[in-house]
Parts: sequence; C-alpha cells; structure tokens
Amino acid sequence: MRYLSTRGQSPAVDLSAAIRQGLAPDGGLYVPQAWPAFSVEALAPEASLEQIAAALLRHFAGDDPLAAAATAVAGDAFGFPAQVRALSSDLGILELFHGPTAAFKDFGASFLAASLSRIQGVTGPRMLILVATSGDTGGAVAAAFHGKPGIDVAVLYPKGLVSPLQERQLTCWGGNVRAFSVRGTFDDCQRIVKAAFDHGALADRFHLCSANSINIGRLVPQMTYFAQSSLQAWRQRGEKLSFVVPSGNLGHATACVWARRLGFPIGEIVLAHNANKTVLDYYETGEWRPRASVHTLASAMDVGDPSNAERLHHMYPSVESLRQALAVGAVDDDAIRARIRRGFEEYGEIWCPHTATAAEIYARRKLHGASPGPWAIVATAHPAKFAEIVEPLIGRPIAMPAALESVMERAGAATEINAELAELEAAFA
Ligand SMILES: *Cc1c(COP(=O)(O)O)cnc(C)c1O
Repeated sequence: MRYLSTRGQSPAVDLSAAIRQGLAPDGGLYVPQAWPAFSVEALAPEASLEQIAAALLRHFAGDDPLAAAATAVAGDAFGFPAQVRALSSDLGILELFHGPTAAFKDFGASFLAASLSRIQGVTGPRMLILVATSGDTGGAVAAAFHGKPGIDVAVLYPKGLVSPLQERQLTCWGGNVRAFSVRGTFDDCQRIVKAAFDHGALADRFHLCSANSINIGRLVPQMTYFAQSSLQAWRQRGEKLSFVVPSGNLGHATACVWARRLGFPIGEIVLAHNANKTVLDYYETGEWRPRASVHTLASAMDVGDPSNAERLHHMYPSVESLRQALAVGAVDDDAIRARIRRGFEEYGEIWCPHTATAAEIYARRKLHGASPGPWAIVATAHPAKFAEIVEPLIGRPIAMPAALESVMERAGAATEINAELAELEAAFA
C-alpha cells in the first residue's frame, strides 16, 4: 500500500516513510492512495484490541517491512484497555483513558513509538522527536517514547501555562526525554518546532521526526477501538454502532471515518466541538474559514484551524459530501458545565469537559430524534485531569487513577529557554 499527500505534489511513499516524515514534503498530509478491501469477516469474533491493531497495521503496511513487525508493534503498544460501559440499552461510554497519561492520545503515541523504534532499527541514526504541546499531547508522547532505544524526545511547553499535573507529566521522565519550559505561549513553542523542521540542515543533523496528530502513525491505532466496539455491538444485536467524537484537530474523527470506510459496522459519526466551531460554520455557510482558537473548558479541543480537516476535505471534497458523511455539533462552556452536572445527577457519571461536550451533543440529538440503534459517547480523558473544573460542579473530590498518582510522586526537571530556536539548538550542542 502506498501513501499520497493531500496536496498531490509529493511522490507516493510506503507506510514507514509516511510515518518517518510526518508531514509530506509539499506540506500536505499522507492518505492512502487506494482503499484495498479489508476483510472484517476474517477477524475472530472476540478479537482483542491488540489483534485488531495488528491486522490493521498489516493491511496499511502492505509490503512495507512494518507488516512483518505488526504483531510485535501491536503487543508493545496496547498494554491498556478501551472499554464500553453501558449507560442504558442504547447508549454506552467508550472509555479511552486507561493509559499511562489518562487520555486517548496514549493509544496513538504508544503505537507511534512502537512503530518508530522498529523503523529506526538497532543501527539507524538516532532520531529526535520534537513536539510542542499545550499540555496533553506532550505527556502522552513523553510517556510512550521514554526508554525507547535510538530515539530522543524534546518536549516544548509554555512556561506557567500548563496545569501542575500536566507539567509533571512532561518533566518527570529524564533519560531520553527532555522537557523545555519556554518563556512564551503555545504558539511560540509551535513556531520553534516548525522553524526547526524548516531548517533543512538542522532537521538532517538531528534526524528530526514529528509526533503530532498529523502523523499517520497515530491514525492507525485510533481506528482499533472504533473497530472493536462496533464489532461487539454488531455481534450482540446486529445493529451498527454510532459515535459522538469529541473533536479538535479532527485526528480522532478521521480515524473513525477510516474505520467505517474499511467496512466496520459503524453507523453515524457526529463531531462534537466546543466554542471553536469552524466545522459547524462550514456546514452552515459552505465556506471553510479557519480562525484563531478561543479558550474553553474543553481545552484539548481549542483548535480553530484543525489540521486533519485536510484529510477530510480530500475524502469529501464538497461541503455536501462531507455533510452526508459526518454530522457536527458545537456547544459553549455553559452547556459543558450543565452537562457535567446532569451526567452526575442522572447517571452518577463523572465526565471530563471533552467527554461532556460529546454527551451534551448526544442529548440534543436524542431530543430531536437521533437515528435508532446503539450509540457510544467517546470519553477522551479521565476527569481527574480536569479536577479543578469538574469537582466544584459535582460537589465532591475525584479519585486519581493510579497512573496519574505515580507521575505526581516523581520529581520533575525542565530546561528553561527563551522562545528562540537558537536556544533549543544550544541545549543539544
Ligand atoms: C486531543 C484531544 C481531543 C481531540 O482530538 P482530535 O484528534 O484533536 O480531534 C479530545 N479530547 C481530549 C482529551 C484530547 O486530548
């Protein structure tokens, strides 16, 4: 199987190269050149996440050497579960926060780490993963790559602008993971990372590699739990499972669309956005107008110019075709707060603000006649990560999952730098 850039100006590459490069040379995102048939029926009825991940990787790798390592990569990457908990006969919560940093990004990051360490091999040049983070992505990447031979990680975060828990998740690793506390904003961090990639000599010298959500190595693992949960629903009741997906950069939603495209029994897919409603406005006006992000309670989805939109536009070029494929909703902070309260009152559920965004959009659709059949609300983060928002709303403390507690017990260390590429470079001299 080969991969092309959404912008059509780069040569086709195999999966290893697409993962290694992250972004295509023309600035586009890698997408499959064709969609060869995937045999969903060949999967055992009780296939585990690991088995589904290996099958998907073999399919997407084709004759790429990663195919031979598929079982090992999947085994390395899927050390934690994704589980659906039923709330009622036609509604479940797909919990994706049982990994090391208690958010769904652990799936993509650990699979990418497992793949890249195979691609790097034992003799290849040392790679440097450079990642700018506003909080969550960096933690997942650091946890996933910590201790991987042949690979270093540099995480850049804005000094004083991430929560104490997030900062600890970025700084507690040591070894091959270095944290940089940048005197500036998240945009400054992103600018430095982008400047490093654009600086050809530097990119070559350090064998830079990107781990952000444009990397196709994060999409493949994100398909697995949509695949598994939809297969389970199909087996139990012969109906397609529909999903409400909390969305920011649209990587998660793209993975869900790809899983449906491969033939998994997925019904409707609904994108759940916070006040950053670029996609909803596109549906309403027909004009794609990216903008600056606004800050909301569901901060991991504060994206005004979603990078994976380029993959969705490539698949569904007209607004009409996209509307047919995906539904979309957007809610403000007041609605998120109200839904966190109601989730607790009605179901005894404690939701993070991202999950509550999806729950609110599900509730509104149900009121207006959501399509029949089973639905799953995707829960993207553990509420304890957002305790300062959630606890006052539900009026009680939230227990920390063990993974987060152990991170809080470790000491943290970061190198403080000004928002300049030269200072980052000097730190590696
Ligand atoms: C990143 C993130 C999202 C959004 O996922 P995208 O793939 O960027 O759309 C939602 N919830 C949480 C908790 C996240 O960390």
